[in-house]
Amino acid sequence: MTSGMQTAFYVVSAILFILALGGLSNPETARRGNAYGITGMALALIATIFMGDQVHGSGYTWLAAAMIIGTCIGLFLAIKVQMTQMPELVAMLHSFVGMAAVLVGYSGYLGPTHTLTGAASIIHEIEIYIGVLIGAITFTGSVVAFGKLKGIITSKPLMLPARHWLNLGLGIVTIFLATLFVGGEHSSTAITALVIMTLIAFVFGVHMVMAIGGADMPVVVSMLNSYSGWAAAATGFMLNNDLLIITGALVGSSGAILSYIMCRAMNRKFLAVIAGGFGTAGGTVASSGDGEQQEYSPETSADETAEMLNNAKEVVIVPGYGMAVAQAQHTINDITRKLRAKDINVRFAIHPVAGRMPGHMNVLLAEAKVPYDIVLEMDEINEDLPKVDVVLVIGANDIVNPSALDDPNSPIAGMPVLEVWNASSVVVMKRGRGVGYAGVDNPLFFRDNTRMLYGDAKASVDAILGNI
Ligand code: NDP
Repeated sequence: MTSGMQTAFYVVSAILFILALGGLSNPETARRGNAYGITGMALALIATIFMGDQVHGSGYTWLAAAMIIGTCIGLFLAIKVQMTQMPELVAMLHSFVGMAAVLVGYSGYLGPTHTLTGAASIIHEIEIYIGVLIGAITFTGSVVAFGKLKGIITSKPLMLPARHWLNLGLGIVTIFLATLFVGGEHSSTAITALVIMTLIAFVFGVHMVMAIGGADMPVVVSMLNSYSGWAAAATGFMLNNDLLIITGALVGSSGAILSYIMCRAMNRKFLAVIAGGFGTAGGTVASSGDGEQQEYSPETSADETAEMLNNAKEVVIVPGYGMAVAQAQHTINDITRKLRAKDINVRFAIHPVAGRMPGHMNVLLAEAKVPYDIVLEMDEINEDLPKVDVVLVIGANDIVNPSALDDPNSPIAGMPVLEVWNASSVVVMKRGRGVGYAGVDNPLFFRDNTRMLYGDAKASVDAILGNI
């Protein structure tokens, strides 16, 4: 087949990818969006493998071997990975994109096919340099993000002395090395410059994510998503593949928009996030000003909670990371259906950074078939909370922490939160007295109108369901 055919397939794929993004922006059309994405990717693969001149001869054998191995790993992960491990998996997949950009850059530079001369050669070298740079930062940054999300690496920020100077120094050296590499005509100096820059970028990726505190991790996850897109776009330039450039740019820019939304949700400036340090220390609410231990709010039981719900007119459910861990969403949907059948108005309040990845709670609630129209964003529901009879906080902590608003010394000061304490009563379900991801104590658990329902969230909601 001709490469004209390949171009036609690429155009259709690009349109399908754009439709996929459009579909994924709304839960009701997300399934269709996914189908567009899958179809677009299948067409892209067919066009790349069988049309055009990218693959020939023994290339097919290598490609088949790589695809079989990749498919097996992908299938294994898709079957085995728990919903709670998705954020780590996504971080790991971003690291693969980063490493692919590094490897493509090196093979493009060192391989036997560099026949370009003059300005074309200079442009190609700039593409390689930038591609390897973004890829290497994405790779190590994503590996560290994986470690932080999995809990292998502490979520506390690493605050090296003079770390901003260190970053600036690394940036200057990277620019200097670029002047040695570009136009270096494959000399040993040029290759050495590329290798040193790659090592610096690896170090920078580690340092950048290590310096970011637990509370800023949502921005990091979306930022690395964006970087992986730009790394893919850079790979597209290196391989001269238009579709990869378009796809990478789509992922890069949508990730950038998501980072902006996450920054806004946390009332943070993007540069301040990159500078690191947010969410450094634990809070101090467990002891009062004079050093005495404060009393936790009284405990309640599943029976009492069910009774409160039965007598309520307005109920709001706030899901958090603990709901994902306990996989309590299906029972919560059953409770919701029963309460709504009694004419009780039940709504869900979703904080933009609830859980461990953007949209985490929406995915879980959609999976449990909770109707979309009762799932509201933080901005849509905060005003209504004073009129609510009962708020059920299910495995959420940081996103309902009042110290974000009323304690300027809190490590998460300034982050908008769900103001659940304004409701008549709040029932908090958690296993014990553990802190949330940001490692900050939560004054909500000491309020007069709060009741603590200790235990695994699934066991608690099962017991409540039995009493409604
Ligand atoms: P948190 O991590 O703040 O709190 C979760 C709470 O759930 C814990 O306090 C824990 O308490 C409880 N819990 C854990 N397991 C269970 C269980 N099986 N049953 C009942 N309770 C359980 O979660 P939030 O959703 O409130 O906040 C999200 C946090 O994660 C924010 O700090 C956000 O910045 C961060 N983050 C978000 C990302 C995103 O993109 N959304 C990405 C990375 C980080 P206990 O141990 O006592 O049970």
